[in-house]
Amino acid sequence: MVHLKELTLQELEQLLAQWQEPAFRARQIFSWIYRTGVLDYAAMNNVPVSLRRKLEAAARISALSLVEKRLARDGTEKCLFRLPDSQLIEAVSIPADNRVTGCISSQAGCKFACVFCCSGQAGFQRDLTCGEMLDQIAFLKFQSAARELTHLVFMGTGEPLDNYDNVLKAIRMANSEDTLHIGARRITISTCGIVPALERLAGERLQIELSVSLHAADDATRSRLMPVNKRYPLKELIAACRHYNKQTGRQVTFEYILISGVNSSLADARKLGRILEGFDAKVNLIPMNAGVSAGLQPPQKLDILFFRDALVKSGVRVTLRKSRGQDIEAACGQLRLRYEYEK
Ligand code: SAH
Repeated sequence: MVHLKELTLQELEQLLAQWQEPAFRARQIFSWIYRTGVLDYAAMNNVPVSLRRKLEAAARISALSLVEKRLARDGTEKCLFRLPDSQLIEAVSIPADNRVTGCISSQAGCKFACVFCCSGQAGFQRDLTCGEMLDQIAFLKFQSAARELTHLVFMGTGEPLDNYDNVLKAIRMANSEDTLHIGARRITISTCGIVPALERLAGERLQIELSVSLHAADDATRSRLMPVNKRYPLKELIAACRHYNKQTGRQVTFEYILISGVNSSLADARKLGRILEGFDAKVNLIPMNAGVSAGLQPPQKLDILFFRDALVKSGVRVTLRKSRGQDIEAACGQLRLRYEYEK
């Protein structure tokens, strides 16, 4: 069975040519899938019934079956899906001001086992395909409560740079005028810091946003929180980020989860300021979501503000992220695992 969202417009044209169908049918089908959001060939009323039958037998529009949707008080909606091989994946729609951000999973499970994050706790299952990522994006756009989508972040389950080719294809597809036409500057990749992949990404000439999960300003602390740091230590990671910034002209955002007694002292803030000195970068502070990992807690509110102020003083641009969707377990690091436990 072909999955239509794996195909670019040109690839669908080629498939139709094999079936002796005219190329313009591909555009019609794309329009139904990506402009109208249909999940059923029966709705494609400008496509001849004979072609619809062929499609029905040979190609699927979406690989997702919805298991559950949960809507939080703040409008955040978490959607849990089952894939044909029975993997479970999640995507989240996050409305704020005049934007709606879709948080997309790039893998079923995760290999990287960061201690503060749920996603790795059940291990790694497999990479998601380009079509399975586009499915999530189209679902959030057409089937979620918000029924709108202006921004995308690859911050759901999985490590996008560990599934490089599929993620890049999904981004290029989502960005294309033939499909959803989401501006590259409205698409963010979030990575735990896979240095060779970052170097490759710098060469792609894409205008996307890059977020790097930093979470510590020294190797001992970072390796304890994020085992990937043993492979790609801070010095190499920061150098790769500086190179990325130079090559693309795009500002890099560093995500920094504040964890009480671990990485949130004033000395930590100053250390962080030092490693980012002279770098066109921004730090996004995220108070740790408690309840994900036993024993790890966010600092007191006042300590968070002290940390932020110390960082600002060292010349770094800082934002403080508000956690969304906590009442439905849709917040950072909370995806997926809970359901597997409760099933
Ligand atoms: N693998 C990618 C994307 C998934 S994680 C990455 O590492 O960036 C997306 C974001 O959620 C990261 O910044 C991650 O560090 C953050 N996160 C994970 N667990 C969290 C928790 N318990 N509290 C707050 N943020 C968390």
